[in-house]
Amino acid sequence: MCYAIPGRIVSIQGRTATIDYFGERREAGIIETGNWALKTGNYVYAQGGIVVDRIAESDALAILESWKGRFFELKKRDAGIAETAKTKKIKNNGSLASVLDKAESGALLTRRDMETVITAEKPSLEPLYASANRVRSRELGNSCCVHGIIEFSNNCKNGCAYCGINKNNTKLARYRMGADEIVERAEYAVKELGFRALVLQSGEDDYYSDDVLVDIVKRIREQCGILIFMSIGERPFECYKKLYGAGAYGALLRFETSNPKIYSMVRPGKRLEERLALIRKLIAAGFVVATGFLVGLPGATEQDLINDILLTKSLRPDMYSFGPLIPHPRTLLAGTKPIAPDYALRAIALSRFIDPKAKILATTALETLNKGKKDGLLAGANSLMINLTPDKYKRDYDLYPGKTKGTGLGTRNPKPGTQDTGPGTQDEIRETLGLLYSLGRAPTDIGKMDGNHVFA
Ligand code: SF4
Repeated sequence: MCYAIPGRIVSIQGRTATIDYFGERREAGIIETGNWALKTGNYVYAQGGIVVDRIAESDALAILESWKGRFFELKKRDAGIAETAKTKKIKNNGSLASVLDKAESGALLTRRDMETVITAEKPSLEPLYASANRVRSRELGNSCCVHGIIEFSNNCKNGCAYCGINKNNTKLARYRMGADEIVERAEYAVKELGFRALVLQSGEDDYYSDDVLVDIVKRIREQCGILIFMSIGERPFECYKKLYGAGAYGALLRFETSNPKIYSMVRPGKRLEERLALIRKLIAAGFVVATGFLVGLPGATEQDLINDILLTKSLRPDMYSFGPLIPHPRTLLAGTKPIAPDYALRAIALSRFIDPKAKILATTALETLNKGKKDGLLAGANSLMINLTPDKYKRDYDLYPGKTKGTGLGTRNPKPGTQDTGPGTQDEIRETLGLLYSLGRAPTDIGKMDGNHVFA
């Protein structure tokens, strides 16, 4: 995992650069060399394991000087929190205690062990989460990805049973952002807010042709040295290839469930194997892929959840992205009983044990169900997303109830027009950074790390 601060290239082997961050070494792939042929000694930004931009040495040194103290201070705080939690011991659950010992020692868990984790109940949960957090701290240190997400269209041609923006929701006000508006928003997110990785998300909306998407990506890449993820659903692989060529090296595409029967039920007319084939092709083509599933789909058992996690691991994605089903009143799953809030947290902890070095996202849906990002981060997660969709559209990207909770939108009507990262978004960024610092986590994809960040 890379840091948002610049690092110095200490060696280049083929198309892989080894980058030094205050003595820590990370590897990152070199895809583009056009505008900035790289050599040892250059300072660069890397995201998702890819070098995304080069920075002048004098600028890099100024940033690093202002960050040196905080870099080590945060590490110490994170390690302290992870260790202190060791005092949380499990009572009356010997089998879980031995599974946690096994997980912390780095041993592989059996399926029976996984069941023990998934079925754990209070009062074993705190020690369980603390154990997963220690594994995260030991394996990955304190870096935490923070991607920004811009939801540029809530139109979709599909009727997924769990999704509030499905085509059959006739009560939803639909919107599309124009190409210029998307590029401006991305520029704003990068230049004003300091994001270094952005997700461009929409429903499956053919209104945006391949050429239009390619143009948007090219313009963002030209103006901002960032990692761009496309989250646009099942487009032909050829489309993704064009987007990669334009500079979108990331893709967010969940498979939703490893159970083919449930998949066909909740995604009418679609087949799981086709989705998985596309995800596998993207990974093979070099995309930085985030994927995962929905926790709590009707009919899904604990065995299905274990299979979901194992399937995610087998795909070897860059990031796990999964969250709880929150039934939306205008979907086919409106009457589904929601899962207990801690079920998704147990899934995070188990994923951490099964894949100790994974990036695991604490999704916004998880936040809606639990106390917030903090719960996920302390149960083994190490990635977050912040919604940067303009306020005037945000509420209408209505995937599930309560999605705008915590964004400050509340019940007010967002002001139309303007480059409105309104108080909601700014507060969320400020709160997120405050939370990360309080937990000793170093945000990797956000921050003008010059010591003068508006949100620091
Ligand atoms: S989950 Fe994706 S493909 Fe399905 S209806 Fe929602 S936006 Fe469309």
